[in-house]
Amino acid sequence: MATDYRPMWESIGIDLEAHDQILQVLPPTYGEVYLQQENRPAGMEYFDFVVNEIHGLRIQELQEHKANGGKVIGTFCVFVPEEIIRAAGGICIGLCSGIEIGVTQAETVLPRNICPLIKSFMGFKLAKVCPYFESCDMVVGETTCDGKKKAFEILNDYVPVHVLETPQMRREKDKSLWKGELQDFMARVEEITGVKINAESLSRSIKEVNGKRKVLLRLAELRKNNPSPISGKDCLLIEQIAMYDDVDRFTKMVNQLCDELETRVKEGKGVQEPGAPRIIVTGTPMAIPNWKIPHIIEGSGAVIVAEELCTGLRYFENTVMEDGADMEQMVGAIGERYLGVNCACFTPNQGRMEKLVSLAKEYKADGIIHCSLAFCDPYMIEANRVEKVLKEQGIPLLKIETDYGQEDSGQLKTRVEAFLEMIR
Ligand code: SF4
Ligand code: SF4
Repeated sequence: MATDYRPMWESIGIDLEAHDQILQVLPPTYGEVYLQQENRPAGMEYFDFVVNEIHGLRIQELQEHKANGGKVIGTFCVFVPEEIIRAAGGICIGLCSGIEIGVTQAETVLPRNICPLIKSFMGFKLAKVCPYFESCDMVVGETTCDGKKKAFEILNDYVPVHVLETPQMRREKDKSLWKGELQDFMARVEEITGVKINAESLSRSIKEVNGKRKVLLRLAELRKNNPSPISGKDCLLIEQIAMYDDVDRFTKMVNQLCDELETRVKEGKGVQEPGAPRIIVTGTPMAIPNWKIPHIIEGSGAVIVAEELCTGLRYFENTVMEDGADMEQMVGAIGERYLGVNCACFTPNQGRMEKLVSLAKEYKADGIIHCSLAFCDPYMIEANRVEKVLKEQGIPLLKIETDYGQEDSGQLKTRVEAFLEMIR
């Protein structure tokens, strides 16, 4: 018999009625997007289980951690160093914001025309529907874009928020500012957890988080094979789960999946029809359960071979140097690694253009689809640069702007199909 988690949800302040709405939407959506795929690797069973227990077992683990004196810290951006949270014994949770929930409540404190990701996280908090959010002792914000920066001021009225000032350039003075921000962040994490970080705990934590990134990189490498042994939708799901699952267990399960995929590659087994177009998606993050565009792309007969997204390569392509001899050097190495994230909040952001061109070659992609959330100025404006560079290189590009609603799905499918037809 399934465990009844309602008493647990109630004890952490969840609005059970509003929460029921999510529970009604998620399983059928997941069934349609994920469980009907053909040739799925057996190793995906673990990730299906994680989604099935998304508000159950993992929340129970967080509550047990808290009952033992541990703290839970929520984040919204891949700039927040998990290594530091973990070194203080905290659990770092990427809060999802990938669904339209609590819009009415969010619009009481935010303008209507704002990025859906920001509206979603405010809605989750105000509608009290996310047990991860309600488990957080502190949330970490950043100054990556104006919308988020201002929204975090409001969010701080409902949950303690620590805002990291993230640089927008990569000059020496920006690097020093960032390092100072990381030192302050470390002090705040120590204060909230009551645990002093030392060289030993930080070094261990760097290695553990690197281990998670390396296994995701192993998975990414396997997708360079033609045919790809796994679908893009399944990989996106794994990349989304990486943000909140237990680090060691997740690393082990992805490694097991990769062993299976290696066998598939040796046997020439793939997930798509021979000759299916190979696509890279790029743009704004696709937070769980936002699978809309990948579902349309793969449902139109293509296979996604890489995500140049924060729920994708930007999260794991770089690791932290492990040779830091003391705290000073380790914090420097953490700072260096995170400044390598090609977010559109940087100006200029040439690294992202170069990365896209090299990814297209490495992954033998036939085309790139740029997906931007509505009202996201950084990515929508940067799409112009992306278009220019890819055109020069002869790499086909389709630009999409969308939100979390399903109203435009038919129109998007028509555009994606036309693009795939063109590049076939
Ligand atoms: S796109 Fe930029 S702001 Fe958004 S999660 Fe990624 S790094 Fe953070
Ligand atoms: S998607 Fe764009 S507007 Fe929305 S939070 Fe990220 S960077 Fe800001």
